[in-house]
Amino acid sequence: AKGTPGSRWLQFEPGMLSRHTRLVEMDHDLERALDQGQFHVVYQPQVDLEDGRIVSLEALLRWHHPQRGWIPPDVFIPRAEANGTIIAIGDFVLNAACRQAQHWRQAGLGGLAVAVNLSTVQLYQADLVDRVRAALEASGLPATALELELTETGLMEDMGTACQVLAQLRAMGVGLSVDDFGTGHSSLAYLRRFPVNCLKLDKRFVGDLEAGGDAEVIAGAVLALAQSLGLTCVAEGVETRAQADWLRARGCRQAQGYLYARPQSAEACERLLAAGILP
Ligand code: C2E
Ligand code: CA
Ligand code: CA
Ligand code: CA
Repeated sequence: AKGTPGSRWLQFEPGMLSRHTRLVEMDHDLERALDQGQFHVVYQPQVDLEDGRIVSLEALLRWHHPQRGWIPPDVFIPRAEANGTIIAIGDFVLNAACRQAQHWRQAGLGGLAVAVNLSTVQLYQADLVDRVRAALEASGLPATALELELTETGLMEDMGTACQVLAQLRAMGVGLSVDDFGTGHSSLAYLRRFPVNCLKLDKRFVGDLEAGGDAEVIAGAVLALAQSLGLTCVAEGVETRAQADWLRARGCRQAQGYLYARPQSAEACERLLAAGILP
């Protein structure tokens, strides 16, 4: 896609370097990116669908490469997972998000929560719980103000271990969300075994709501499932008023998407928080 962040990286490919050389180069650049301050965390509000108040902010990672410009997370995170740099990068995001959220809370901007995406590699890292505890202690953020987002496929990789880790985090008070819900396949029956408290309805279903058909059926089923299991449901990728109305009418309590706010810098979010209610 021309003009989108990171497109220069993708355009670099044809005939210039082999795929392998390019990946080796990205590995090398990822090793240094953290030390060189090339990662930035932006935040996207999650709002209460009844009153438009911001209840939480999701931390989303951005990489500004000195030569290639902005590289989207969908491009570099899989590589960081493959080469192990995701551990240090994930720790950076976790600590930055906890500090930022605690700053907002202390500034009197509300009893906000912050949501952090956790890679499957981090989930199965032996000292994950210690790292989460350390980030909370260093920032002073209460555990109940942190939400960790995990993917369905990640949870399914090793259910026994995942359940144990999740139980420890829940016992501390940390919130746990299943991200991109509805995109995995076999997990519905297993869902209630995991001590999670929130489902994030994947944006592909929200985006297709107006087209009718399968998306409506799946979104409706996910909302009913969340209700019957006593879980919060956050709809992702809400872009239109009609989508928000459809979701609200079916009991969805929270939403996130361009209709309300794009992911943006902490400073820009602070202005939104100070202004209060979003559309
Ligand atoms: P995700 O966790 O599902 O994040 C939601 C994505 O949807 C974000 O893309 C966000 O910018 C985008 N989005 C939000 N509202 C809308 C909307 O109304 N319409 C549309 N079309 N898109 C919307 P982003 O920031 O490019 O992140 C992509 C993925 O990269 C994330 O998907 C997440 O899986 C991963 N990611 C981002 N930051 C991190 C991180 O710190 N750690 C890990 N492990 N993964 C991350
Ligand atoms: Ca997420
Ligand atoms: Ca998602
Ligand atoms: Ca995703």
